[in-house]
Amino acid sequence: MQAPPRESMLDFVQQLPKAELHVHLEGTLEPEHIFSLAKRNGIELVYKTPEEVVAAYDFHDLPSFLSIYYAAMDVLRTEDDFYELAMHYFQRAAAQNVVYVEPFFDPQAHTSRGIAFDTVINGIARAQQDAAASLGVESNLIMCFLRDMSAESAAEHLEMAVGHLDKLIGVGLDSDEKDNPPSKFAEVFARARDLGLKLTMHCDVNQKDILEHIGECLDLIAVDRIDHGVNALQDDALCTEIARRGLGLTVCPVSNRFVVQNLTGNEIRDMLARGMKATINSDDPAYFRAYMNENLMALVEDADFTKDELMTLTRNAFEVSWMSDERKTDYLERLEQVQ
Ligand SMILES: [Zn+2]
Repeated sequence: MQAPPRESMLDFVQQLPKAELHVHLEGTLEPEHIFSLAKRNGIELVYKTPEEVVAAYDFHDLPSFLSIYYAAMDVLRTEDDFYELAMHYFQRAAAQNVVYVEPFFDPQAHTSRGIAFDTVINGIARAQQDAAASLGVESNLIMCFLRDMSAESAAEHLEMAVGHLDKLIGVGLDSDEKDNPPSKFAEVFARARDLGLKLTMHCDVNQKDILEHIGECLDLIAVDRIDHGVNALQDDALCTEIARRGLGLTVCPVSNRFVVQNLTGNEIRDMLARGMKATINSDDPAYFRAYMNENLMALVEDADFTKDELMTLTRNAFEVSWMSDERKTDYLERLEQVQ
């Protein structure tokens, strides 16, 4: 059977109303925006043009990505900067028919530079309200802790968030995973659960001790979702348990191709075959130069994904999202109307 032409698949991908569950707002900072914020805040950059910035995106593993990533976000200083950061992402989401988002932000990456927690979260929350009203993009925010910082720092930031619980739906864990297992944050995550927050954690691809980390996420933390989690496929018992619990896995194909040189197309198919709720996401789209639709099209073009498979992945994202059941039903009905 002949595969449908690229244009018809692109049209289908565009038409699908989509949910994104793994996107770091700091990872949506586009090179042009780095320049305009640097100018407004009187910051001298080592790069002369946005093109030079993109040319420096020579990631080959997680640490090489993180060093450029943290350096760039120094241009984010004021509440308006964070508002713009989030709003620019929501505008791109709307243009790609991404209708629902659970974005991450990393407060410690900003408080460690002397930016107040409230400055960050208030700017993002204001953009969320405006995006829902003016773009029709709904969202619920997830606060991530940097796992290469201490558990004490994570606990302090969770307490800073207590006055903002109306702005948060969950907590996550990201940054450099090596020797920073989920167990390091068990107390912080238990406290977050007590505060009524949902729990997710990165189990990044091909990290040291990754199977132990996934096991801890399930047995010790009792996460509500896993970010990445592709390596679970190496252990049948983990796969069975993830499927039994109906846990979502937020897979990021183009990000994986950048940092582990593999689009993980076969792995995503394997997850679907095992009844695991895989979803497709962009992770840090400004850095990997691919938002949601580019990730879906990468699976079409480089791994021959079909419309049925894309539909299943998109349906999974709404199903494992943390929105209300009522909103979920509404979005799923809209999705099923797409031919
Ligand atoms: Zn991520």
